[in-house]
Amino acid sequence: MIRIDSLHYRYRATSQPALDGVSLDIGRGGILGLLGPNGAGKTTLISLLAGLLAPQEGGIAVDGEPLEAWRAAHPTAIALVPQDYAFYPMLTVAENLDFFAGAQGIPRRQRRDNCAAAIAFACLEAVAGQRVGELSGGLRRRLNLAIGLTGAPEVLLLDEPTVGIDPQSRHFLLNAVERFAAAGGTVLYTSHYMEEVEAVCADVAIIDHGKVLTAGPLVEVKRGGAPALNLEIARPLPDLAADWQARFPEMTAVGNTVDFPEFPADALAPLLAELAAAGVAVERMRYGAPNLEEVFMQLTHHALRD
Ligand code: ATP
Repeated sequence: MIRIDSLHYRYRATSQPALDGVSLDIGRGGILGLLGPNGAGKTTLISLLAGLLAPQEGGIAVDGEPLEAWRAAHPTAIALVPQDYAFYPMLTVAENLDFFAGAQGIPRRQRRDNCAAAIAFACLEAVAGQRVGELSGGLRRRLNLAIGLTGAPEVLLLDEPTVGIDPQSRHFLLNAVERFAAAGGTVLYTSHYMEEVEAVCADVAIIDHGKVLTAGPLVEVKRGGAPALNLEIARPLPDLAADWQARFPEMTAVGNTVDFPEFPADALAPLLAELAAAGVAVERMRYGAPNLEEVFMQLTHHALRD
């Protein structure tokens, strides 16, 4: 549905481009997880898709039409749910929704229907008359989503929609994203929570320094990674720790758990022999296909929450 082709974008007064030749496809009804370390270019890409910024080179097409032309024909069909809360705390939930629907130029009758649908979708009926300033963090996140839905969009751009909320609200939001896609909606989802992306996104793209490092179905992206090693040992690493860290700089050792996001097969037997010689028993070991976080670290050399 959305084709992003060789997109470049550089902010004025910066020497490095924020996006440096990004090409991606997002299929209709799909949920694409967009991952990248801080400063990778995720918000810039979302801003270009939302029309807040204009491409400097390259292009975006929707259903084969240039984004601008498509947007002119479907003015409310792409909605951005921003990272920050974007509503008026002194207004009620219903008043906020009506205001933002009005700001999109939606006629009064349709506005009422769209707002009711958004309230129902985000399960905000019980607080519709309440001032937003009085709501919990989880309900505010749900309102942020509901505001994004007031234009009855086909595409939702979600910029870290679950930051700072409790597990129950997080679960609600993830489920809402899945419901939106199941009903034919298309989603671009950025998050720093790898387990969320693994749970809801069939496709992922990992970007860094404005470039796509890998993109495709989640299973294929994981299959494309190098093997990883996770060890649970009987006690924290002894003197070996410094030596291992020097040999495997991306190793992390926390308590009795030692993780190597990338580990060569021929180094496995010698490593286990070193542990045995140091008198450290291995209680559990996983070696093989990496999870998404390990692929991310292999490609970006960052933990996602760095
Ligand atoms: P984060 O995860 O921290 O939100 P991000 O992946 O969304 O990061 P962007 O916000 O798109 O990354 O930033 C990409 C690059 O562009 C960074 O180097 C950033 O410093 C730079 N940048 C972003 N906004 C501006 C701006 N308004 N002016 C100048 N440079 C900017």
